[in-house]
Amino acid sequence: MPPKTRAPYQPFEYLEAGTDYREFTLAKELERVPPSSYPLDADQTKRLDRILATAPLVSSHDHCVVMPEDIEQIHDYARERRTWTGYAGLAAAGVDVVLEAFLDGMGGWRWDDVLFDLGMRYSDIAHQDFLYRAETKADLDRAKPAGKCALVSTLECATMIEDDVDRVDVLYGFGVRVMGITYSESNGLGSGLREERDGGLTDLGRATVRRMNKVGMTIDVSHCGDQTSLDTIATSERPILITHAGARGLWKTKRMKPDEVLKACAAKGGVIGVEAAPHTTLTEKHPLHSLESVMEHVAYCVELMGIDHVGLGPDTLFGDHVGLHKAFAAALSLSRIQQGVKYTPVRYVDGMESPAEAMPNAARWLVAHGYEDADVAKILGGNVLRVLKETWAR
Ligand SMILES: [Zn+2]
Repeated sequence: MPPKTRAPYQPFEYLEAGTDYREFTLAKELERVPPSSYPLDADQTKRLDRILATAPLVSSHDHCVVMPEDIEQIHDYARERRTWTGYAGLAAAGVDVVLEAFLDGMGGWRWDDVLFDLGMRYSDIAHQDFLYRAETKADLDRAKPAGKCALVSTLECATMIEDDVDRVDVLYGFGVRVMGITYSESNGLGSGLREERDGGLTDLGRATVRRMNKVGMTIDVSHCGDQTSLDTIATSERPILITHAGARGLWKTKRMKPDEVLKACAAKGGVIGVEAAPHTTLTEKHPLHSLESVMEHVAYCVELMGIDHVGLGPDTLFGDHVGLHKAFAAALSLSRIQQGVKYTPVRYVDGMESPAEAMPNAARWLVAHGYEDADVAKILGGNVLRVLKETWAR
């Protein structure tokens, strides 16, 4: 994946730092940790270049934002509500389409906060022309030939719609094209994965799924409980995405999806994007979280679901992700989710540390492990693009 070129632009450079907003020293987008590039020989490198000359590189879930260098400042940074987009890191990665999971600044998924975050980042994005918002199928296809990067606006859950299904239309109007049903906590639509008991999709949840189908917004069940995931898949008239998760068959936490959910997702034409956020997709064989553990989940899902139903949703960001998890441990329900498993913590996920590293290294790994050209292309983006196109209105 050749890096993309872009005109120099610093986030919010149209304002005066220190005068218009409080400035933070931010993490390096590239080489924050020793860079890691999965080794390929000359023939393999040539083969990968050939594949990527036409096959788009698509991440089904990332947070392409830059965190403060000192992660202790994260709460102040969030309060400033001016999140930096990692343009330089994205260009270096050569990613064509990224499903960007917008945060809501202070947490809690409040309606006003979510809209504020969308608008604030859109304002910054509108001041440059390398990264653009993808809202139609044609938008998804034009990034690669143009040497640009398409950003698909996504939300991890629909909690902010409260009990007002019309807000699905409003969010669509604000550019949101993929949305989860619940976060790890439950909401009025269904049960989140942290819950002891999963009540399944509620009537409001069913109405929301139907509205998302009609409006043309892709449904995500990454953070839903198992029953809520199954109900959502059954209710939706269209395929769904699991934008960022892994296989419980390899690692027994609530954050991972059981075979039953993965199979139901595939049977409906859906796709899982295998994730790489620290300490999620571990395996017994690769208990120190790294590219190898993540790709073991990819191989498992391909075996179980078929080659047409697996992609990559690294769930990375620019900065200290492990530190961020510590700062937000309670909000992220981490102790509940990781209940019952023991692992050795890592400082970062070697080989999949940031959006700049994750997709390129996954691509290199696939080529090195005997996947056919067409299969590599499917996993690197073809499958996720198919679901987006089957679910979007236009
Ligand atoms: Zn998530």
